[in-house]
Amino acid sequence: MTKIIAVTNQKGGVGKTTTSVNVAYYLAKSGKKTLLIDFDPQGNATSGLGIDKSNLSRTMTEVITGQATLQSAIIQTEYKNLALAPSTPHLANTEVELAQAEGRFIRLRRAINNLQGYYDYIIIDSPPSLSLLTVNGLIAANYILLPVQAEFYALEGLGQLLETMKLIRKGLNPQLDLLGVLPTMMDSRTTLSTQVHEEIKKHFPDRVFQTTIPRNIRLAEAPSHGLPVGAYDRFSKGARAYKALTKEIIGRIG
Ligand code: ATP
Ligand code: MG
Repeated sequence: MTKIIAVTNQKGGVGKTTTSVNVAYYLAKSGKKTLLIDFDPQGNATSGLGIDKSNLSRTMTEVITGQATLQSAIIQTEYKNLALAPSTPHLANTEVELAQAEGRFIRLRRAINNLQGYYDYIIIDSPPSLSLLTVNGLIAANYILLPVQAEFYALEGLGQLLETMKLIRKGLNPQLDLLGVLPTMMDSRTTLSTQVHEEIKKHFPDRVFQTTIPRNIRLAEAPSHGLPVGAYDRFSKGARAYKALTKEIIGRIG
């Protein structure tokens, strides 16, 4: 069965896209047939894989408005086993367009169902909001991967996300589960990072990944070259961390 993971946190800049791209890359490298769905109008996962957004005829916009199948929007990347469903800023307009539309919460789920289990893993990169798009992602997913930046306000706003998760569980997606909480941009030399890490562990007993992601310049540089960090500098600390995280994910859910 396909495992569908929504990488979600409504807070901006916490490492959602970095996590989505690099986990997808290492899943594919481990032999898992993987689809990365860029579900953020910023399209950072798309450009992070080196895909030029300017001449795409079918993207998640067409998929979600029912003008194209997900299948037809998927691009095979240059990496074995790794496919991408791209997005562009037009995706932002669909929020308004879908506001009153039939089945507006289950558009993504339907689109994924039509793939009939072809992929082992589907990773959904979510926008920094609790928008209709994010909710579509959570209703389509089996799991949430929650990146939390190791900084002072890290846990603020998470209550709202967990509340949304609860509502979705009671309603359209009872099987939605928290796969794990991922401390990102950790700087283990600072007591603040360590304190926040402890705080996160206290808040989410048993759900925090063993692996933490260090603050690492290679992770920030790689997208500007259109590369996952594993293809940019596979021996960097950042690459090794995402490789370890992927192993941990496969260990948890297969
Ligand atoms: P948004 O909410 O805008 O979608 P995001 O949660 O997807 O943001 P990213 O885009 O992954 O966050 O990361 C934000 C910025 O921090 C990017 O410039 C990224 O390259 C950089 N970054 C992410 N993780 C790390 C890290 N571990 N070390 C250093 N820089 C990082
Ligand atoms: Mg992002």
